[in-house]
Amino acid sequence: MSTASLNSACSLILSSPKTTTTTTTSSPRRLVVAKLNNSQPPSFSSSSSSNPINTPPRLIRNQPVFAAPAPLLNPSWSEEDMSKDYQEAIKGLEKLLSEKGELKAVAAAKVDQIKAELSTASSGTKPFDAVERIKEGFITFKKEKYETKPALYGELAKGQSPKYMVFACSDSRVCPSHVLDMQPGEAFVVRNVANMVPQFDQVKYAGVGAAVEYAVLHLKVENIVVIGHSACGGIKGLMSFPFDGTTSTDFIEDWVSIGIPAKKKVLSDNGSAAFGDQCTTCEKEAVNVSLANLLTYPFVRDGLSKKTLKLYGGYYDFVNGGFELWSLEYGLSPPISVKDVATILHWKLY
Ligand SMILES: [Zn+2]
Repeated sequence: MSTASLNSACSLILSSPKTTTTTTTSSPRRLVVAKLNNSQPPSFSSSSSSNPINTPPRLIRNQPVFAAPAPLLNPSWSEEDMSKDYQEAIKGLEKLLSEKGELKAVAAAKVDQIKAELSTASSGTKPFDAVERIKEGFITFKKEKYETKPALYGELAKGQSPKYMVFACSDSRVCPSHVLDMQPGEAFVVRNVANMVPQFDQVKYAGVGAAVEYAVLHLKVENIVVIGHSACGGIKGLMSFPFDGTTSTDFIEDWVSIGIPAKKKVLSDNGSAAFGDQCTTCEKEAVNVSLANLLTYPFVRDGLSKKTLKLYGGYYDFVNGGFELWSLEYGLSPPISVKDVATILHWKLY
């Protein structure tokens, strides 16, 4: 398939339509689409003439599409309970504050934090509305970004030509487009638990393989960046799971086992370090394992040997607000063996 046809296939599947309102009468099912535009509050259009125009969006179906199994556990949490817990915690800390003068600064800070959390919790008497949050988010994005950059979004409507492919963790705190201030169209992103790149495997890891193939051969990205991060739960799992044949998860242990070479190196080099420090080291070392695994993809090796492609490791430390980038140069001898690896670039920003 040509790049153009792949691009258009992806556009069909992935991109939102240029026009924001769709009304159809050809479908046997009534199609209702919320319309969002900049100048007016969200309006509503429907194929049914009985529905008024310009009324707020409403649910298409007020029932689940499929019957989900009932949850095994019914959480008994209530806002009252949480408020009570907070009040008790504040009382305890204030008592401590009055008894132990030397803890004053620490306890006072904690009291402030808890009060702030309590205030947020109690002021949010309105339950979180997931649909409303998405709607408001899109309205804001459209007004403040989409409609203020018509040239950018006009170009993106024609196709994409990102310079970067980025592997990042699924962790909600580490969105690479946000952290690196990348605009739409700049990075082709794959996110998964612990930002791992498995070795070339057409059966087990076809999803990752398809993304790398598409990025390198069709989008012709010039850089692949694998970005690890601080306090990564996936890496903590990698460092914690015994990998002795027993499993306690359906997928996670098998997935993070991709990073076992990193774990072995960390335990070998830093066996006596504290667990937290081992995890931090492994968060970076696992990035190097992923960079090495990228070399098992023939089109990646080809790009490196032709110097049309570069590989980078990155590390986002959101605890201290830092970012680190490094690059490895591989001495490649065809068809696959890596002769030597050297760090050719390394910087940190804090
Ligand atoms: Zn993570």
